[in-house]
Amino acid sequence: MATKYEAVIGLEVHAQMLTRSKIFCGCSTSFGSQPNSQTCPVCLGMPGVLPVLNKKVVEFAMKTALATHCTIGPLNQFARKNYFYPDLPKGYQISQFELPLAERGRIEIEVNGEGKKIRITRIHLEEDAGKNIHEGIEDASYVDLNRTGVPLMEIVSEPDIRSSEEAAAYLKKLRNILVYLEVCDGNLEEGSFRCDANVSIRPAGQAAFGTRTELKNINSFRFVQKAIDFEIKRQEQVLEEGGRIIQETRLWDTQKQVTVPMRSKESAHDYRYFPEPDLVPVKISSEWIEEIRKTLPELPEAKKERFVLEYDIPPYDASVLTQSKKIANFFEACVSLYHQPKAISNWIMGDLLNEEEIPLSPEQLTGMIELIDKGVISGKIAKTVFEEMLKTKKDARAIVEEKGLLQISDDESILSLIDRVMKESPENVEQYRKGKEKLFGFFVGQVMKVSGGKANPVKLNELLFKKLKTPS
Ligand code: ADP
Ligand code: MG
Ligand code: ZN
Repeated sequence: MATKYEAVIGLEVHAQMLTRSKIFCGCSTSFGSQPNSQTCPVCLGMPGVLPVLNKKVVEFAMKTALATHCTIGPLNQFARKNYFYPDLPKGYQISQFELPLAERGRIEIEVNGEGKKIRITRIHLEEDAGKNIHEGIEDASYVDLNRTGVPLMEIVSEPDIRSSEEAAAYLKKLRNILVYLEVCDGNLEEGSFRCDANVSIRPAGQAAFGTRTELKNINSFRFVQKAIDFEIKRQEQVLEEGGRIIQETRLWDTQKQVTVPMRSKESAHDYRYFPEPDLVPVKISSEWIEEIRKTLPELPEAKKERFVLEYDIPPYDASVLTQSKKIANFFEACVSLYHQPKAISNWIMGDLLNEEEIPLSPEQLTGMIELIDKGVISGKIAKTVFEEMLKTKKDARAIVEEKGLLQISDDESILSLIDRVMKESPENVEQYRKGKEKLFGFFVGQVMKVSGGKANPVKLNELLFKKLKTPS
């Protein structure tokens, strides 16, 4: 019988920090400019230049460390990580090694309603490398050094993750925290939030970890899950066939949906780390830490709890609404205009979560909900109004008036609709009166249909019941 295996996963995230200038020079960090237009002798790695540390970079990382319950080291040391690659003009990357910015934190995740803590090993600072460009060029490769020296935070987790779902939950949570803190834009496609996944498996019950592989090149949450699941299966198959896992770096091939070997795994000693002689160690005092702590915004967990208490919405709603700062702010703006938190939450969760940009204003959404609450339109018609609002950017009331979507609530109009439907189906009326009560739903449906969905459902039920019961 095949052995049962357990997956063990640790994630390394590189988050690009939202500073305006690079980590060791004054060049701009903005994305998408003309290649090599944002460079200077420092980030081009010319001989004899000296790096100067950007203070904001340290503060952004301190915020992240505090938000993830890490301990910030009193002394930070930069180190040279030596390797050769065309996108790295200096021949080394300035990173941190023995004395990172922060260590020993945690992030709480939730999978299938169960909470779990994932420990963070360390957070350190480093500079990004440039970018090699091969696409669309024949017989050559170009190098764009705009990204060289863009500040990165590397956030390394302990191997506490046990499934691809947990990995995705961890990444979403971490991304959410960074976006809340406004230290990273969290954009996976543009590469400002990148993840390497370390994956190994072990027979269930075994304490020792198996040999891991490291998956690179995964630029969406969906791919992270797929790549990890593929890798777990692949490793299981290797072991079941009596083989052994080779410690290596593998790439996720989006087209073929497989992981492929890239290179054998390098170890720390391959990089010949040594303390960066051009930068003095950074001292971080407890006063500085406290100053930064005061600038922390309300984080997702705290916001979620407050939403439950303050707006009396279910914890599930609160957790969904706070998964994005933008959505959470939109929700609060709506509630301050019109105090119906649950109805507002329902509309946001049902129709607005997957929108890149929220396509309507708080005034528009609450204006529409108010029309439903006042009985001006039915919930069903509201769907139409909502769609129309997104399309035309007009207010709900204007749409209702223009399209004649007012709810029909007066007895006389509803009764005439009922009469019409009853006349059209005399056999059903007879059947109903003989006791086939489940036909009631049929009549409701028919009247709704002839009313164009506009009949007030409460009134309709009431009047229909009376009419059907009283033989004419
Ligand atoms: P490197 O920098 O060489 O990749 P690290 O020691 O910094 O190595 O570890 C990188 C990541 O690998 C960490 O997130 C850690 O949790 C994870 N990891 C370490 N051992 C294992 C293992 N056996 N299985 C899965 N992940 C692991
Ligand atoms: Mg690694
Ligand atoms: Zn520069």
